[in-house]
Amino acid sequence: MNIQSLDVFIVDLPTIRPHQLAMHTIVMQTIVLVRVAGGDGLEGWGEVATIGGASYSEETPEAIKVNIEKYIKPLVIGEDAIHFDAISTKVNRQVVRNTFAKAAVETAIIDLAAKAKGVPAYELFGGQIHASLPVAWTLASGDTKRDIEEARECLKAKRHNIFKLKIGIGDPKRNVSHVLAIKEAVGDAASVRVDVNQAWDETTALYCIEALEDGGIDLIEQPLPAWNKEAMARLTSKFKVPIMADESLCSVKDSYQVAKIRAGNVFSVKPAQVGGLTATKKVAAIAEAAGISLYGGTMIESSLGTAISAQLYSTIPEMTYGTELFGPLLFTDTITLNSIVYEDFQMIVPRGPGFGMEMDKEKVFHYTREL
Ligand SMILES: [Mg+2]
Repeated sequence: MNIQSLDVFIVDLPTIRPHQLAMHTIVMQTIVLVRVAGGDGLEGWGEVATIGGASYSEETPEAIKVNIEKYIKPLVIGEDAIHFDAISTKVNRQVVRNTFAKAAVETAIIDLAAKAKGVPAYELFGGQIHASLPVAWTLASGDTKRDIEEARECLKAKRHNIFKLKIGIGDPKRNVSHVLAIKEAVGDAASVRVDVNQAWDETTALYCIEALEDGGIDLIEQPLPAWNKEAMARLTSKFKVPIMADESLCSVKDSYQVAKIRAGNVFSVKPAQVGGLTATKKVAAIAEAAGISLYGGTMIESSLGTAISAQLYSTIPEMTYGTELFGPLLFTDTITLNSIVYEDFQMIVPRGPGFGMEMDKEKVFHYTREL
């Protein structure tokens, strides 16, 4: 099915509560949607989510839109969607980096290609291995008592038994006490993990990780800045608790470098960060070959973006640490007519044609803004 048109939408979605990260507090999440149209009224929709304008990545939503329209769109129009990997190769020859922009376009093309064949997109990646995926929840109120209550409610409702705490902001020692109090309250009923979002230096990491490891915390995500891979490697070899690389993995090549010096023994994979779904599968292969475990990360996508990641993650043999695909639960509204189903501590991987989501175009246009 030849691609006849391509449109880009910047969409702001309100969140149910402030979501605090080291670099930004999200109250309005900005996603970028790409729509490609073929013949017969068929449309493919792709998505990437961004965090805090330019605070997480140099690829702001505005830059993504402009770069797609000016530099990627002309390379894509007229191509057959089923050749999505060949199209990506063509794009990669003329557009460097811009992984978020490339992922948004690639996922729209894959959605169109799968819909044209009448199959779920995971069929184009070798088929589904997992019908559902475990999903972590982020406790981010900052108040220990409230976070414990929220964790207990999640456990009671059988929605989440993996909790992640964002501790890159504020006093490290106080943050560690906060995390340990939550772990003590939930005990063995849940896995408690932390994400530092690059906020510590090596010295801070040494004493904080020691305390977290002693307190039974299961995973330490990106404690050091993305560039400091050597120090990440030192932490990985020093501690028993796994160290996860997230912001350090910005391409397939980065993943190889991180694996080679073992600057982490778990990878958080994210399609937007590495340039799309095909690239994510390559990162997963590098991890498999290096004996590195996987976690299905998120940039906090809408139901569409969540379905996109879930469909790809469902084709990866081992996601040892589960996923973080809770995005839709953080928003007050949705841009799809059908919803992601969460039950029994898992999310059900959508099974319809394409990524299995039907767009609510009225909502898309309602939340769309100009540059
Ligand atoms: Mg992270």
